[in-house]
Amino acid sequence: MAIMDIFSDVQQFLSEPKKLFIGGEWVEPSSGEYFPVENPATGQNFAQVSMAVEADVDRAVAAARNAQEGAWAKVQPAERSRLMIRLAELIEADAENLGQIISLENGKPYTNAYKGEVVITANIIRYFAGWPSKIEGSTIPVSPRGGEPMLNYTLREPVGVCALIVPWNFPLSMCAWKLGPVLATGCTAVLKPAEQTPLVALRLAELIQKAGIPAGVVNVLTGFGDRAGAPLSAHDDVDKIAFTGSTGVGRMIAKAAAGNMKKVSLELGGKSPNIILPDADIVRAAKGSADGIFYNQGQVCTAASRLYVHESVLDQTLEELRKHAAAHLVGPGLDPANTMGPLVSREQHGIVKGYVDRALNEGAELICGGKAPAHLEGGYFMEPTVFLDRQEQACIAREEIFGPVVTVMSWSDVDELVHRANNTPFGLAAGVWTNNLKQAHTIAAKLKAGSVWINCWNVVDPASPFGGYKQSGWGREMGKNVIDAYTETKSVFVDLS
Ligand code: ADP
Ligand code: MG
Repeated sequence: MAIMDIFSDVQQFLSEPKKLFIGGEWVEPSSGEYFPVENPATGQNFAQVSMAVEADVDRAVAAARNAQEGAWAKVQPAERSRLMIRLAELIEADAENLGQIISLENGKPYTNAYKGEVVITANIIRYFAGWPSKIEGSTIPVSPRGGEPMLNYTLREPVGVCALIVPWNFPLSMCAWKLGPVLATGCTAVLKPAEQTPLVALRLAELIQKAGIPAGVVNVLTGFGDRAGAPLSAHDDVDKIAFTGSTGVGRMIAKAAAGNMKKVSLELGGKSPNIILPDADIVRAAKGSADGIFYNQGQVCTAASRLYVHESVLDQTLEELRKHAAAHLVGPGLDPANTMGPLVSREQHGIVKGYVDRALNEGAELICGGKAPAHLEGGYFMEPTVFLDRQEQACIAREEIFGPVVTVMSWSDVDELVHRANNTPFGLAAGVWTNNLKQAHTIAAKLKAGSVWINCWNVVDPASPFGGYKQSGWGREMGKNVIDAYTETKSVFVDLS
């Protein structure tokens, strides 16, 4: 097949330098500067976006505050639901354009963007659209010391202006993970997409405007971490920050947030253990494990990057993994035949290549992959890569790579295995492949991770909590848990004597 044509709507969307979205209007950046967006499949720039700086952060936060105290506060819960359902419908109606924009700036296969990420985004917004009318307080039977009759009840209020800083691996759905609860709880937002993938967030802003969501409720600043993200996370008039990204930046954000004690939720890195027990259906386990690491070019915080295989099924599993790696067609995401696109950037490609080289030096055995496919030039491609690390001593057994590289290790004793699986500073996800019910639940209970997948991987649902133990983050997103993170609870006492 061939590279698909750029849709006319997308061409038009990309034809002019993109402005910032502040207070319901498209405005020039105060710096007057723009920066290019690169297509990682070709290494060529194809769009210009505004470079937001501190003055723009001030403007956007003021607009969000204004909406928070003004127009948005008057919108009833039922109307918030209606606006959110309208937004979900507009996302679905624009799915092809959104998918193509994602594929252009992120590199992932168009089908994965259009049929995967865009659909997930609409589903998240629709799930949260059910929440506005269900965020309830309670009445509490208190026991005042003087014995006077006392009414005590709680009110749930929006936490206020939220800074949302998101990464490039799922540039649209990551916005929805945060905008869903923002809109549901009646908060307002300043959203900063990653500098590698700013375009789809701007397209989403157009849909937010079209849905009739009041001006200033969602503001979008395109820019870099140092000039836009840092002033946003330190801003005194921001009430909460929600961040998804690297553990290093998460640590900086937590420190910046301490200035005004803004609420913080963090979704950070991972190095997730994926365990195959000897009784598992190996064909299925290997397929699930390959998908768990190769999906999205391995650029997933929950990537199944440490694969622990029982020694009795090691050879068979390696053979299956090799087969799945070879089955991938690596190439530009806009060629619908390809199942794996480029990595997001030259920088990311260099990081992944660096890990491959170090792993070889440290004695890991390369089973397959490890290089850019020979026929592809210009883009940041990397073959699906499988390493066997007999000693569990290579850097690739410990550090997050964020690329299509799995480190396979074997095990024999189950108690020791659980210890090895938990021996990491991360705690985002883990998985077990087995048909033994008792083992499955026993190991699931022992794994220190926010998500545990049994006979599956990367299952995430807007109704179910998601987040990390240890250095993988603070708090939980999705489900009813995330509503708490975007609301303040007020306790009201009324003396009835
Ligand atoms: P990666 O290194 O994989 O690109 P990052 O954690 O650096 O991941 O980036 C995630 C998001 O955090 C991006 O939107 C980026 O611009 C932003 N960011 C980077 N540095 C900072 C910072 N110091 N303060 C706030 N945001 C930042
Ligand atoms: Mg970074």
